[in-house]
Amino acid sequence: MLDINKVRADFPILSRTVNGKPLVYFDNGATSQKPQIVIDAIAKYYQEINANIHRGVHTLSQLATDAYEISRSKIQNHINAKFAHEVIFTSGTTHGINAVANGFASILKPGDEVLVSALEHHSNIVPWQMLCEKTGATLKVIPMDDNGELIMEEYDKLLSNNTKIVTVNHISNALGTVNPVKYMIDKAHEFGAAILIDGAQAVPHLKPDVQALDCDFYVFSGHKMCGPTGVGILYGKEAWLNKLPPYQGGGEMIKEVTFEKTTYADLPHKFEAGTPDIAGGIVLGTAVDYMNSIGFDNIQKQELELLEYATKQLLEIEGLKIYGTAKEKTSVVSFNIEGIHPYDIGTIVDKLGIAVRTGHHCAQPIMNFFNIPGTIRASFSFYNTKEEIDVMVEAVKKAQMMLS
Ligand SMILES: *Cc1c(COP(=O)(O)O)cnc(C)c1O
Repeated sequence: MLDINKVRADFPILSRTVNGKPLVYFDNGATSQKPQIVIDAIAKYYQEINANIHRGVHTLSQLATDAYEISRSKIQNHINAKFAHEVIFTSGTTHGINAVANGFASILKPGDEVLVSALEHHSNIVPWQMLCEKTGATLKVIPMDDNGELIMEEYDKLLSNNTKIVTVNHISNALGTVNPVKYMIDKAHEFGAAILIDGAQAVPHLKPDVQALDCDFYVFSGHKMCGPTGVGILYGKEAWLNKLPPYQGGGEMIKEVTFEKTTYADLPHKFEAGTPDIAGGIVLGTAVDYMNSIGFDNIQKQELELLEYATKQLLEIEGLKIYGTAKEKTSVVSFNIEGIHPYDIGTIVDKLGIAVRTGHHCAQPIMNFFNIPGTIRASFSFYNTKEEIDVMVEAVKKAQMMLS
């Protein structure tokens, strides 16, 4: 069982006030808060071992390199990658997707097809559109239904021998839908297609097993799972990472450089040009340790309770509609109130100390599907409470009264 008061005490920001009210932070889908242990680890790195990695024989450089590589191994274990060199440090999910999409520019030709889902974040749409523009390949969209679930019969029909890569999120940021990624991975492989899973919204809630999933690529950001901003992970199967050309050229990613020819470094360095966010990379390991110390079983149990409670309480408000009613859902409630713009509600509840996201959540195609300008999104983390949900529900009722 989670001792919620003890957990909340790990996050100093949760005890601050906003606009004179205790903060209620329900924007975890945009970024999570950070525990003290993560905040301290950033300072400790700069206070004690700051040096550039992989470059010097001096002691600090060795210490920094060791800490960075230990963190890589921790993340390897966490996602169950076969090799540490399949774990590439990036600046985040967006960077990881762009690295893969750019790599495929050397593989795709006109007539080839890229499948994206209707549920994607812009960062898992735009790089593939750019790739298709560059190569003459065609982008096809796996449709969803009114519950916000991808339609698997349509996915099966879209797959063909022309499909070269499929890209889909594990969990939708806008609606909370958990996608049937294992099914989708196996199906893609039947047609010889590669598949990338955008795990940005999954890693705060679950521990992905990339070998059990058998996905070719899995990308995520550190900042949504209690880690710092500026760091993320691109997991790729060794064979794919060896096959794809590097995304960026520069220091650290080379074996030998002459003006005639450059040979690339081995994995993972081939994809890690330049000085990375060293502190971020090290501290991502700290964040992973922290989340495992809480335990993903505990995290899921708490978040499911919050989801069920919030759904029930919100639906008692007249004229309130929830978008995203998939059977498999994580702790995200996206909603609107009839006749009121989501932005107006967001503004009023902020005055009451409540942080929710309003707008299209970087997923305009989903908003177009439902024919709405946006939603109010409350996304819960394991450190949130039912009492906070009560505060939000009262605030939304108040906003409704003021605005109608
Ligand atoms: C947040 C998010 C991204 C983008 O992550 P960045 O950290 O901004 O690069 C991509 N996909 C999904 C599903 C997300 O939630």
